[in-house]
Amino acid sequence: MTLPVYRYRLAPHGLMTRTQLRAAGLSAARAEVVGELRWRSRKARHYGGYRVAYLYDPATARPVRPMTAGRWRSHAAMMRARRTCPDCKAVQPYVIPTSLGCCWPCAGA
Ligand SMILES: [Zn+2]
Repeated sequence: MTLPVYRYRLAPHGLMTRTQLRAAGLSAARAEVVGELRWRSRKARHYGGYRVAYLYDPATARPVRPMTAGRWRSHAAMMRARRTCPDCKAVQPYVIPTSLGCCWPCAGA
């Protein structure tokens, strides 16, 4: 499947980027990608010199799901798991680096 590619400032009206959807209170999570914007950028010089932003049809986007107590709880549990060292089981104040696979004290020992 190939998507229509638009140049900077030349996308049709009515299509929105992820950021524009968010500003309108919509989520891109299950929205349909209907095109892409492509522009030359020095920031992308290591990946072909082009940056890309996907364009969504706001008619297919859903409203952002509000955070509930349960969703915050599950987010907190997820972050705690990321800070827990799999070796010594200590909960660190930082996320365990995936490059080490354990906390700093364990890596240093
Ligand atoms: Zn550890």
